[in-house]
Amino acid sequence: MNAQGERYRFDPGSLSLELMLTGGPGPYERYEIAHTPSGLAEWFTGSRLALTAPLTDVRIRPSELAALKELRDALYRVAPALARGEAPSEEDLVLLNDATAATPRPVIDPETRRLTWAPPVTGKQLLGAVARDAIGLVAGERSGRVRECSADDCHLLFFDTSRSGNRRWCSMERCGNRAKIRAYRARAETA
Ligand SMILES: [Zn+2]
Repeated sequence: MNAQGERYRFDPGSLSLELMLTGGPGPYERYEIAHTPSGLAEWFTGSRLALTAPLTDVRIRPSELAALKELRDALYRVAPALARGEAPSEEDLVLLNDATAATPRPVIDPETRRLTWAPPVTGKQLLGAVARDAIGLVAGERSGRVRECSADDCHLLFFDTSRSGNRRWCSMERCGNRAKIRAYRARAETA
């Protein structure tokens, strides 16, 4: 929901960029939802990680919550840099690299033969999943696709999964349609 109370769908396209929606440093503190380990654990059960396989048993320790928030702070420096086509700082890259030691382990339930994450999924594993995703945005075949919404007053960042690589808006409902309406009005006025 935005400041005007409108609901819209925003898919940032990547787990690390999605985590940035849970709050952040400075002006983003007012969006904070990760006040407690369980608060962030619950958020993960609805994140895109749960689209791959359900997250049923997530356990985040207080120290892991702090580490996840530290990583999230780093993403607020790394992701905007990527969107501007700049290189992230060496310090932040070290932080990302150091966080990848563990990740949620996929297992197949022998009875249902469906994919699950081996329980419990720990805060350290979640840290690793987010860091690996972020590393994939910095280098490799997924790099060069972090964008900032084209609206002047919107700073939402997303991973552009469009085939053409020219997604411009955080969401059509929010910024895309507003821009279209403005363009239409401008044309109508000059006509
Ligand atoms: Zn936008």
